[in-house]
Amino acid sequence: MTNTGSSSVQHSELRAADLATVAEQLGREPTVPFTVTARCTGGHPLVIRNAPLDADGAPFPTTYWLTCPDAVKTVSRLEADGWIARLNERANDDEMFGAAVAAAHEEAAEDRARALPDARAWGGVGGTRRGIKCLHAHYANRLGGGDDVVGAWVAQRVEPVHPTQRAHRVAAIDQGTNSCRLLVLEPGPDGTEEPTELARDMIITRLGVGVDRTGRFEPEALARTIAVIDRYCRRARALAAEMIRVGATSATRDAANRDELADAVRRSAGSELEVITGEQEAALSFLGATRGLDPSAGPFLVVDIGGGSTEFVLGRHPTLTDHAISVQMGSVRLTERSIRNDPPTPDDLDRLRRGVRRGIGEAAAAVPVGEARTFVSVAGTATTIKAIALGLGRYDPDRIHRTWLHAAEVERVLDVLAGMTNEARAAIPVMAPGRGDVIVAGAVILVETMRRFGYERTLVSETDILDGLALEALGVR
Ligand SMILES: [Zn+2]
Repeated sequence: MTNTGSSSVQHSELRAADLATVAEQLGREPTVPFTVTARCTGGHPLVIRNAPLDADGAPFPTTYWLTCPDAVKTVSRLEADGWIARLNERANDDEMFGAAVAAAHEEAAEDRARALPDARAWGGVGGTRRGIKCLHAHYANRLGGGDDVVGAWVAQRVEPVHPTQRAHRVAAIDQGTNSCRLLVLEPGPDGTEEPTELARDMIITRLGVGVDRTGRFEPEALARTIAVIDRYCRRARALAAEMIRVGATSATRDAANRDELADAVRRSAGSELEVITGEQEAALSFLGATRGLDPSAGPFLVVDIGGGSTEFVLGRHPTLTDHAISVQMGSVRLTERSIRNDPPTPDDLDRLRRGVRRGIGEAAAAVPVGEARTFVSVAGTATTIKAIALGLGRYDPDRIHRTWLHAAEVERVLDVLAGMTNEARAAIPVMAPGRGDVIVAGAVILVETMRRFGYERTLVSETDILDGLALEALGVR
């Protein structure tokens, strides 16, 4: 039975390099686990999102924290000029403004409660219950996607924080069957240099739960997904994205009530929801996964194991697709169809393998899957297996991206995962919330693909369709 999940959960990951930079920015070792919410031109952390509890388990009510020293200094100048007192006066005198400040606090408490329900009671922005105490906290809250009237006031006075900030920033949202992801990019100076990643995030909302069975989005799944997209869009706009592109894949293609999602996207993003066809999905994944790879390592096979479908894409050169197929075989869909026990029984696993072999057979009939010199694996199944194989205590994308994963490692990890309960898998430190109960199916897809076509190893990629969507929007190929 697949866990439907009652709320949206955040994936926490942290690069060792960011930990070092934030320690330098703060002038001390961070005492609270955090993730990077927003970056500046140049890529250094601008805002971090703190966990609701510090390393000792004590409440830590400041969720979003401004860390860029230039930003901190500029906001401190506003505080030194007496603006906290003046804004509090305005909140008392101007009913609309006061109500907006109160609403920002309420929303911040809700946002914190997503990570820890008890934390709703700890007040709003920066732990404040009413009025304005810290302009840094409000500005950070806005950059984290909060609807924050004080943060917006600060933004008008301090931006751009760095004079080198470039125009034409873009945001992409990839709405998959299982997860909702955000990427905000700033173009390189002349289009040849690598774009700077200003925000990258992933929240599991399980939009596709039940779609395979009913052909419709469930109202709760739709509501929690729309809330996440709305907040992503505010964050993207706070980061000066001029365009927000929202692409939705497998589950949305299959859902009869997808107009409800499209209406919400139009309101939040100001753009039309792009229902990505299997063919487009393949080309975008390939673009995101292979951009920058050495052309002499081609042809390339990119396999994107999603929740509802798996794409097999072959191309002779990076970014250029020759053959592609999207097969209705994904980790969520296969789990719903095949796994009836926890942990899965040998019968469940046999049913799963048969389903996977059928799907792979379908792919092989359309794409010369075995003809690549380099097999690239994208998406959470492969990256999580690599993190488990490495024994990481914390998910660090820098340790994963473009490293090799050997077939024997995948088989070893699959054996371990298949012997565990959903609860035990969910407790693995690098496991994204909501992935623990579907990763066995994803791992079987990867193992069977490697076995059938004789791939000894696969190059694991953190970049995929999300990057493809954003790069295409930037006009970078
Ligand atoms: Zn900065």
